[in-house]
Parts: sequence; C-alpha cells; structure tokens
Amino acid sequence: MAKAWAGSLEYSLSPWHYAADELVVLCMHSTPKSHSAAFDSIVKFLLQHFKPLAPAELADYFEGKISAGPYVLFTFDDGLKNNLYAAQVLNAHGLNALFFVVPDFVEASDQTAYYRAHIRKTIDSNFDKEEEDFTALSIPELQALMSQGHRIGSHSMSHLLRASSDADMIEREVASSKKWLNEKLNTDVDSFCSPINTNFSISQSSKRSIEKNYTFHFTTFPGLHTEQKDPALVYRRNIEVNWSLGKIKYALGKADLGRWNREIERYRQL
Ligand SMILES: [Zn+2]
Repeated sequence: MAKAWAGSLEYSLSPWHYAADELVVLCMHSTPKSHSAAFDSIVKFLLQHFKPLAPAELADYFEGKISAGPYVLFTFDDGLKNNLYAAQVLNAHGLNALFFVVPDFVEASDQTAYYRAHIRKTIDSNFDKEEEDFTALSIPELQALMSQGHRIGSHSMSHLLRASSDADMIEREVASSKKWLNEKLNTDVDSFCSPINTNFSISQSSKRSIEKNYTFHFTTFPGLHTEQKDPALVYRRNIEVNWSLGKIKYALGKADLGRWNREIERYRQL
C-alpha cells in the first residue's frame, strides 16, 4: 500500500522522465488467465510512455545503435504455461518478449511438485489456482512462441544455482542449460537470467561462465542503462500482473534505485 501511494505520488510529481537511450526491462513471473485484462491495461499504459524494444534489437541497443526511446522490454521468468496468456496479449499489440526457462522444470515428471519445491515456495492461492499456473511451457509451446517472434533464454537448469554451487553444478546450470535449449529448440540461446536474486545465486565462477556462454545476463538488479550499457549486467524492474498501477509506477520510478547501488557494486567486484 505504501509503495502504491509513494509510486503514485512520485509519478504525479514527475512522471518518468527517461532519456531517449534508456531501456526499462521488466521482469514478470506468473500470468494467470484471470489477469489477462489486467496485463493488457499494463501494456497499454506502458506503451504511452515507452517504445517497445524487440529481443532481436538488444544487441544494437547495447552497442548504442538505437536511441530513439525510451524503450521497454518484457521478460518472464520460470517458463510457466500461463505465460501463453501474456504472449496472446503481447501478440495483439505486436510485441515480442523473452521467456526464461528452467529445463529441469520442463522435464519434471511432477511439474507442480517441482515448481512448489524449487521455484516458488509461497503461493497466493487467490492468484495461482489453475493447473497451468503451476506447470511448465512445453517444448512445442516454446517453439510456437519462437515462431511468433518471441525469444527463449536460460533461467538455469534447475533454478537451484547458488553462489555456493560447485564447479560441476555451475557447468550444468549455466552451460548445459544453454546446450539443452539449443538442441531442443534448434536455436542459439544468447540470454541467461539468474534465479532468485543475482547476488544470492551468482559467484565469481558462475559469473565468468555466464560471460563465456551468453551475450546477455539479465539480473535482478534495477538500474539505469543510460548510466551503463553492459550486456553482461542487464538491469530489470520486477512487476507482476496483479499489482496496482501505483505499485507499478513505484517499481518503474527512480526513487527506489539508490538502495541497490551497493548490491550492484558488490556484483561488479566479483
Ligand atoms: Zn525464477
């Protein structure tokens, strides 16, 4: 409530003044069918302020070749089946997103159990209540998303990558997850997204492995790309489809960014 109030206040005093070369990358998760209309409203609101950046334009953006924004890019973590509803909304607006997938979740014999044990332990039963809110996008569904222009990235093999993971586990989580996706989807995955919280899941060795295997590392740190365009440290803002507009305004504002500086610096020093 406080965040929604603060967000609305900040926005009313100074509605997002982002530079033309800024890119706001959104990090979202579950998108139940019941919230498709809410997501559509969020998309419409954001398009009043930002131009969409397609995943295919990311390289040009980070090379400084595109700066007629500010831009917005949608990303979805965990690869839940209900992201198909979000994709429908995006398709209707002609937008493309990035979906970060967990191969062990896709291959789990009991996906709901896997999801609840290793991906999201706390469930809001008013929000996630259908089977598709607990199960994974299948390989054919991921292929269909790609044919619609969306891109797929790795969200680690198991979602269990931690800063304490040993070399074998890092190899599997970072390199093998890419190989798995490349083989299953016949593509070249160039984006990795660290699970949980980047400083909690990434160590110096996994950071090196991500840099070696991928072009883009999507982190959990919010920040301004105007200040630094580094494809190995992509900033993201977390929002969810069941958030009020005030809370979304807060998440996309600048008031809250300062407290992340120390965390980002800690990651840079790794
Ligand atoms: Zn996740």
